[in-house]
Amino acid sequence: MWRQTWAEVDLQCLRHNLSVIRAQVGSRVQIMASVKANAYGHGAIRVSRELIAAGADRLGVASIEEGIELREAGIMAPVLCYGALPGGAEEEAVRHGIAVIVMDEAELERLSAAALRLGRPCAVHVKVDTGMNRLGVRGRGAALSLIRAAAGAAAAAGAAALAARPGVWLEGVCTHFSSADESLRLIDGETERQAAEFDAIVSAARAEGIDTGLVHAANSAAVFRSSAYHYDMVRPGIALYGYHPFSKGELPGTELRPVLSLYTRIVRLARLEVGEAVSYGRTFVCERPEEIATLPVGYADGVPRLLSGKMPVRVRGRAAHIAGRICMDQMMAVVTDLGADAGDVVQVYGESATDGVASIEVAAAEMGTISYELLCAISARVPRVYVGGSAGG
Ligand SMILES: *Cc1c(COP(=O)(O)O)cnc(C)c1O
Repeated sequence: MWRQTWAEVDLQCLRHNLSVIRAQVGSRVQIMASVKANAYGHGAIRVSRELIAAGADRLGVASIEEGIELREAGIMAPVLCYGALPGGAEEEAVRHGIAVIVMDEAELERLSAAALRLGRPCAVHVKVDTGMNRLGVRGRGAALSLIRAAAGAAAAAGAAALAARPGVWLEGVCTHFSSADESLRLIDGETERQAAEFDAIVSAARAEGIDTGLVHAANSAAVFRSSAYHYDMVRPGIALYGYHPFSKGELPGTELRPVLSLYTRIVRLARLEVGEAVSYGRTFVCERPEEIATLPVGYADGVPRLLSGKMPVRVRGRAAHIAGRICMDQMMAVVTDLGADAGDVVQVYGESATDGVASIEVAAAEMGTISYELLCAISARVPRVYVGGSAGG
């Protein structure tokens, strides 16, 4: 294979980040590793195998297709689909043993029918909307009655418990925070308010004798914010991949390590004269003679065009600025006086040895976005190369 651009995924860093999260939540709280979106671009199958082998309890995906991909790769760990299940996909979920979130009773009924048809149980997590206003059942009363229905519990005290939804069982109750990743220096009003609302609903269900199963709410930010948000299970994503949900320096002592680095190789070097320009639109014009390296990586590989001229890449351990516009398949970098040769490996994203800053975070900040988006953007044509796998992985 003529590998000129590749993403290196360091599984040792991944295991390290899992252990940081484990230390944060303790041994009694389950960890559902969020491996949606191809494990944030890192490769869902390999990452899931590694995380389960290293002690993650469960996996979280965004769609039923993502869950099926794991099952077809032979991954049998419990999987929860975070996204809304399309009507008609119930049998697929049941057949593959993928737990789903539910938001209303009609959905429960469809799942129950599918479970009965296939003769297999269906695990559901009641999703409660406490303020994200994205998914979930809204309002305390509606949430409580959906929990009762999913648990097959009687609505009124004194009535006999009825198996209202055969085939369906309540594996969990969950919510999602809108603001847990705000700066730790700000007062945590909204997350506390959401948690209090969630607590009220869970306690009301428990007061009726309902087994609410796994109660869960925390994304990475909430994992590090307070143990009050851990409940029975946490659902970290970005922290597993090595990025802090808060700005750097807010959580001294939690050393997460970026897992992914993006590399390419210099395919051409050219000495340009004063006044010559680089790339489409001639936005970069040499003010002195410059040496320009061509790199076979572009926006079709997931390096956004908006980073044109904004982000340094690393050549021979030193920063080299991107010259002119990023093209679909290529971009150019200024390597004057860096002693670069054709064939040299160039780091596009990854932890810098010199300044300790993960450049994907710098790049995201430059663009006014978050590390998540740049990770997910790394496209399918970029091969993922795994290093540091545990024995047998
Ligand atoms: C993506 C996602 C997570 C993980 O979020 P991070 O901020 O990456 O930790 C947790 N829960 C749900 C429902 C999600 O969609």
